[in-house]
Amino acid sequence: MKKVDALVLKTIDYGESHKILTLLTETYGKIAVMARGAKKPSSQLGSISQPFTYGTYLLMISERGMGTVAQADLIDSFRKIREDLFKTAYASYLMELIERFTEEREPSAGIFLLALTLLSYLADGKDPEILARLAEVKMLDLAGIRPELFHCANCGREVESSIRFSVTNGGPLCGDCHAADQRAVWIKPATLRLLQIFQHMDVRRLGEINVGPDVRRQMNKVLRHYYDEHSGVQLRTRTFLDQLHKYELDF
Ligand SMILES: [Zn+2]
Repeated sequence: MKKVDALVLKTIDYGESHKILTLLTETYGKIAVMARGAKKPSSQLGSISQPFTYGTYLLMISERGMGTVAQADLIDSFRKIREDLFKTAYASYLMELIERFTEEREPSAGIFLLALTLLSYLADGKDPEILARLAEVKMLDLAGIRPELFHCANCGREVESSIRFSVTNGGPLCGDCHAADQRAVWIKPATLRLLQIFQHMDVRRLGEINVGPDVRRQMNKVLRHYYDEHSGVQLRTRTFLDQLHKYELDF
């Protein structure tokens, strides 16, 4: 038996009454475990078998095969997130983003801290969009597609303030190289600056950030295109977020 603190990244129903949980742990990295009977209303495992729940899990795990949850104690259910549709949608997105770009059984204290810190921020009322962009920048490292943000993606010269970002070349273009990629996106210097800050920042130090609508839109656009072109992964929760935002604008 192993006792570990873990975050539930994902749950899948299994049969009539069981659930398979994908847990993020500091010790083992990402692991899938069976929570027997978790779907039954009377089950003690019910409350700790929900997405983005943080708890202490007593696990039976072996070298091979799927582990089993023997028992678990709730540390934080992030109730303030669950009470809010928008926050819930963002938390689901963050969990899927992290789940898709982590490998099973590859421990990383950094990613565990990132996941937990982002959920705490979301519960505390920090801007969900900014948290999502921060997570996207951080996860590019783990996805193995980290962009070079301080040098021109075409000539390698240091860029002070870029006005175009080339998704294809994987970074900003300097003044001389603007024409290197016809599809490069126009961005404000503030947008590049924020991307640079996010890439290097310790997530525990995120203060209040005021981001204007242009920078917000540009960050979203650049990161989305970047993931689409370099990762090849489609996130299911992203579609739901888009629909929510559209709905919000309609009213
Ligand atoms: Zn250049």
